[in-house]
Amino acid sequence: APAPPPARHHFSDSVEVETLRGNLLAWYDRCKRDLPWRALAATELDADRRGYAVWVSEVMLQQTQVATVIDYYNRWMQKWPTLQALAQASLEEVNELWAGLGYYSRGKRLQEAARKVVSELAGHMPRTAEDLQKLLPGVGRYTAGAIASISYGQATGVVDGNVIRVLCRLRCIGADSSSPAVIDRLWDMANALVDRSRPGDFNQALMELGATVCVPKAPLCGECPVKQHCQARCRKLFGKSIPVPDVEDCGVGDCPLCPPATEPWDSSLGVTNFPRKAAKKQPRVMRTATCVLERRGSHGAPEYLIVQRPSSGLLAGLWEFPSIPLAQDLQEKKEREVLADHLQAWMGQPVAAKGLQLIGEVTHIFSHIHQTYVVYSLPLDGDMTLAPASSPSRWVTEEEFHASAVSTAMKKVLE
Ligand code: SF4
Repeated sequence: APAPPPARHHFSDSVEVETLRGNLLAWYDRCKRDLPWRALAATELDADRRGYAVWVSEVMLQQTQVATVIDYYNRWMQKWPTLQALAQASLEEVNELWAGLGYYSRGKRLQEAARKVVSELAGHMPRTAEDLQKLLPGVGRYTAGAIASISYGQATGVVDGNVIRVLCRLRCIGADSSSPAVIDRLWDMANALVDRSRPGDFNQALMELGATVCVPKAPLCGECPVKQHCQARCRKLFGKSIPVPDVEDCGVGDCPLCPPATEPWDSSLGVTNFPRKAAKKQPRVMRTATCVLERRGSHGAPEYLIVQRPSSGLLAGLWEFPSIPLAQDLQEKKEREVLADHLQAWMGQPVAAKGLQLIGEVTHIFSHIHQTYVVYSLPLDGDMTLAPASSPSRWVTEEEFHASAVSTAMKKVLE
């Protein structure tokens, strides 16, 4: 068999770059998904609204699937079509609309930043990636690049999870893709590759390719518009473990971008050898006792007590059933006592631990926490009034509960 071509971790040939841009953009024009933020950005919005429309979509899409985001995005833009409208909303309203989308601090930060644009920047969005990142709290390098390129035509690249995967495969980058050395190199590459006349489309095309063709587990290489530029595919077709190193990048046995010597190319994985990530940190394990307090409402329908979480930290400002974190390995008897004490603070009267009915457990994975809720219930007689407590609390019907700013985990608890 002929020797495979050298592995290059960079794009040095301008003809290759031009061809890649052309192929990718032609594919994007043919195959791009019809998404509401694209439709909105293509209308005659003024520059600030264009930037805002892209900004909202980018924040919602962080850590969340496109299919989930669409409905939230449409409702958000209907309710708050401008930065000014969002700046006037309350955090409660933002949390209510965000409920179920996860990573709640995103909505809160977006609203805080919108307030800043209105109060300190005269309602005008910064126009460059540098200014967006510098002036808007919560806007990182990726979001700034996306807004600047898509809304304002700045020729600046973006690097998100999809782009990391595509670029690592295109250039056989097998070192830990979350390491600063690799991330820096990928940003350089994204900035060099981005099409100068259609930067927003190019960036979206690269991300779209990662989302629909160059997917994590079973990429559709046969249909890929940039397959002729793909070194991972080339390596797979040749089936060789180590192609001739490129002198510029692959110092003998010591290349900072190649897979580590301890985990060399695995031919059974093919192109999915790339990218590689360091092992994830194990999520923190937490146990929390929670109690669904139920009373008969004025129309005979059940009502439940919900209380508000603190305004900072995990699930900031969201509502939940009264809950208290538990030490690990607590006996059930002790758990009941801890919970009963906690409930007393809300109700202003003693609660008998043995009156609490154990219903079961609900597990929920937050970004970095493996949470188990131990669910108790306590039906109450008559019209219970609550002690004035340090945080707000209220009784809600089932319908009101679902319309409140409650997390998905709490909905599971009620179920
Ligand atoms: Fe990804 Fe395959 Fe295309 Fe390479 S050829 S970029 S691995 S889909």
